[in-house]
Amino acid sequence: MYKKHFFLAAMAFALPLTPVAAQELRLPIERSVAAVPVVPAASADLDSLKADCKELYSALRVYSDNALKTQQNSPEFMEASAAGQYLRGKLEQLGGCAGISDRVDAGGGQGGAVSSRVKRELNEVFGFYGAPAHRPPELRGVQVKAGYCQINYVKNSVPFLVQYDGFLKKGEIILTYDDGPGPFSGEVSASMKEGGAQALFFVLGRNMAGAAGKERIKAEAADGSFVGVHGYDHATVNDRPFTAYSQEKVISQLRQVAGMISGVTGKKPGFFRPPYGIISPDALKIAASELGLVPLGWTIDTLDWSTKDPETLFQNTIAMIKQPAGYRLLQHF
Ligand SMILES: [Zn+2]
Repeated sequence: MYKKHFFLAAMAFALPLTPVAAQELRLPIERSVAAVPVVPAASADLDSLKADCKELYSALRVYSDNALKTQQNSPEFMEASAAGQYLRGKLEQLGGCAGISDRVDAGGGQGGAVSSRVKRELNEVFGFYGAPAHRPPELRGVQVKAGYCQINYVKNSVPFLVQYDGFLKKGEIILTYDDGPGPFSGEVSASMKEGGAQALFFVLGRNMAGAAGKERIKAEAADGSFVGVHGYDHATVNDRPFTAYSQEKVISQLRQVAGMISGVTGKKPGFFRPPYGIISPDALKIAASELGLVPLGWTIDTLDWSTKDPETLFQNTIAMIKQPAGYRLLQHF
């Protein structure tokens, strides 16, 4: 069980993040692909690459549409968002998809379809559609902290971290950026500093293995922003969620990344967000009690994986944060 003082410390750490007015939010939110190795296409394979891109993109459109028309944090929304994030990552790994998917993005898309091959892969990755053997029964509300966050088992008992924002005042938001550091990290943290605010960056160990990544998180911390743990990879080397690893492996990975952050910034990270928000309650509790990492989800997913058009993303995001109550926004590098 969590200790009470742990959460008091967590809240004290969370609250000094300065709220930002909605009008000041025009930040560089284009995604970067720096962390993902780009596979160049040999000309003989171009047709098959194009077919792969179209297949993935067609599925991405479906999950995009599903996410946009369902309630944030509902089981349908979480399934769509996790699938969409994964598919966008796949598209970016196929560097040659840029021309194809960008054109469809700009035109707003033509609907789509999920092929049986893509559906099979998504099931292998997340387990949404498979037999629920060896999984816990469907449960809602495994308490992490009352009124703060909890684990909900959604479709086929996949455990998602769900966040609440009751501690934020009306009009307050916390901006978070996942999957960095990347080439835009410095621009984001400098913009936040200029506005007298702080962001919270959930970083990947693989992106700070080199000198450039280390410099980037050093700059984020120097600008007054917070650096938290996302994982080493995202979360496995193949972008599977943490439920694909043993609990011991999850904890050792988180310990490694926390150590990397401390080593570079001189500050022990205080927050942790599992990739896709998917993690078992037991691993989450050990990360908190043994590593001192406060679990933090989000209340608004900006769906930045659903479009590559910055203006569309900006307008969608502003519309989301104009809704009542406080928010914590999820965005990606
Ligand atoms: Zn992520």
